[in-house]
Amino acid sequence: MVTIALAGNPNCGKTSLFNALTGARQHVGNWPGVTVERRAGTFRFEKGEEGTVVDLPGTYSLSARSEDERIAASYLSEPEVDVIVNVVDATNLERNLYLSTQLLELKKPMILVLNMADEARAQGLELDLETMRTLIGGPVVTTVASTGEGLEALKAAVLEVAPGTSAPMMPHVNYGLDIEGQVAKLEQEIARDEKLATAMPPRRLALRLLEGAPDALELVERSHASKAIQARLESSLSFLDDHLGADAPTLLAEYRYGFARGLVKESVKRGETPALDRSSRMDRVLTHRFWGFPIFLAVMVAVYSLTFVVGAYPQDWIGSAFDWLQRIASSHLPEGELSSLLANGIIPGVGSVVVFLPVIMILMGCIAFLEDSGYMARAAFIMDRLMHKMGLHGKSFISLIMGMGCNAPAIQATRTIEAKSDRFITILVNPLISCSARLPVYILFAGAFFSPFHGALVIVGMHVLGFALAIIMGKVLRLTIFRQEQAPFVMELPPYRMPLLRTTVLHMWEKGGIFLKKAGTVIFAGATLIWFLSHYPGIGDKSLQAQYHLQQEQIKAKHLPEAEEKAALDDLDFARQGAVMNQSFAARFGKVVQPVFRPILDPEHKRPDAWKDGVALTAGFVAKEIVVGTLGVLHQAREESDTKGQLSPLQQSLHNDSGLTPLTALAFMIFTLIYTPCLGTVAIIRKETQSWGWTGFSVGYGLVLAWVLSWLVVVLGRVFGFA
Ligand code: GDP
Ligand code: MG
Repeated sequence: MVTIALAGNPNCGKTSLFNALTGARQHVGNWPGVTVERRAGTFRFEKGEEGTVVDLPGTYSLSARSEDERIAASYLSEPEVDVIVNVVDATNLERNLYLSTQLLELKKPMILVLNMADEARAQGLELDLETMRTLIGGPVVTTVASTGEGLEALKAAVLEVAPGTSAPMMPHVNYGLDIEGQVAKLEQEIARDEKLATAMPPRRLALRLLEGAPDALELVERSHASKAIQARLESSLSFLDDHLGADAPTLLAEYRYGFARGLVKESVKRGETPALDRSSRMDRVLTHRFWGFPIFLAVMVAVYSLTFVVGAYPQDWIGSAFDWLQRIASSHLPEGELSSLLANGIIPGVGSVVVFLPVIMILMGCIAFLEDSGYMARAAFIMDRLMHKMGLHGKSFISLIMGMGCNAPAIQATRTIEAKSDRFITILVNPLISCSARLPVYILFAGAFFSPFHGALVIVGMHVLGFALAIIMGKVLRLTIFRQEQAPFVMELPPYRMPLLRTTVLHMWEKGGIFLKKAGTVIFAGATLIWFLSHYPGIGDKSLQAQYHLQQEQIKAKHLPEAEEKAALDDLDFARQGAVMNQSFAARFGKVVQPVFRPILDPEHKRPDAWKDGVALTAGFVAKEIVVGTLGVLHQAREESDTKGQLSPLQQSLHNDSGLTPLTALAFMIFTLIYTPCLGTVAIIRKETQSWGWTGFSVGYGLVLAWVLSWLVVVLGRVFGFA
């Protein structure tokens, strides 16, 4: 026999529903030990079986602070209760659903009963039961308890979820990265004691502990794992206090309201008009059907301007600092391998990445600000429908947009996406979004091979192509590898509030630290490796060295004016580097991979220089910034930024001598767009997917897609008569 319990806010119609279900088959007593009235009764299913129904005292939450709440919470946890029937007032959904978020934590089959359906109709509310059902993870029925309407549907729903049937997927409130992290850690400690897990679902216990609920603390005190759990709880609480600046109960409550608000927003048309709170009023504008999107775009434009315009200043300073370091290393260290490793390898390599630190910190600060203010959830909400059509998720959009700055932190930002398949798809397509490090490559080639107007079109086109490919690839992954059903979830809409400056700065600081660590490890190693490959064995060659010294002496013997002498020495140094590089392992490698690139970069087999592209693209694996630098050294032409409207020496060299054509230059750009952005991104993908398999997949499909697409462009271009 099935036992159901009616839970809900006061005055939502529980007792009326109870009476309608049981008729005269009921008895009234008291809850054990207290004077609160207890009603229990029996009801009959269509086929004649009987069920038991218990009416609970009305409560606004399950926090067990009042007598009524304690009774409701403890009875619902009893094994005797098979199905929770959550009765809500359909005309006041948002407030009623707060309790529902806690009922879901009990991990029992649950039915959502939207009572007072008559009044909801009268108010013109349209309730989308299908959507609600998906979001709440269980049956949803409408009833009018006073007339008995909907009782049969309710009984059918009870049979649908009663024990013995497959339990539906239960969603839960997502409390955001910081809190969820602590909940997970607490759950781990709780798992040390099996008895605790049977007394209360571990997630609920963890949340109750964070809220400081006396009954939860008491439960833990009796456990043999109490020491470890309490220690964990203390550090979790101080972590949350540091990072969020508000106490845990308030934060949890806000997220629950956010869940309720999101659910209503997604499933009720013509939302409640009376008593709009501040957040709802703001949402009327910020998530407006027409204005929501332009506002969102404006916010994104603002974030980008702030990031790249303001960030350009510290970026310049850091760039100059590294230039200065490089000069010191090349002029003050005794000439030789160490000096070259520092001046031509590590300093420019690490420097070219560290210059992005301010941009990344500002971007992460903006993101943290938007996240904490509550706007980010709305942005995801606005993009959600559109992104779903493309097999992605509203929150994916934010990650993709951020990818335009830098793919590595953009991939980190996918942590806010709960469903694993959504998250993995977003991670895997993100590298296709053209990051700011690829821009110098486009500028170089577009300037050298296209008119200013066409060049600008090509550069914009690269970004559009990146987005289009990300969306197509997302759809393909969704239709092939990630076909599993998605868990239902609600776009939580937490209340708007002014973020704490301290929190924003803390987030910037942490993200900056992660990035620096990457520069200090992966990029450091990569730069060293590239330096080694591009300088050996030539750099150790004694006869080359002797020749170089002789030429140096010859220049000095001319007693030129200081500036001229310096320029001549610089040219000599550059020429020597070129000579070393020309016989390096990298050059040999370039000649080995040359056939691979031939169909796309040298379709007519008449470019002796084509191997240099292979070297540059291979070096670009470490970071795209290195592509331009490598080409500069290999073509013996420095890339100078202050050439005002004219082609830089490197551009001239590419245009006149390299044998590349506009078509093959375009292919070079497309290849640069599509293949792996940098080692740093690879490291982050590895970290976020925890899998070398997916990391390899990401690199592999990038290379294949890059080759195939640039090849197609060259083939089609030649068919249509472009050179
Ligand atoms: P409880 O506090 O949850 O037990 O709620 P009650 O069953 O005592 O109902 C509160 C009030 O709402 C009573 O006046 C009921 O007659 C009324 N009521 C209950 N269900 C409905 C309904 O579906 N439609 C309408 N219009 N009124 C209802
Ligand atoms: Mg009642």
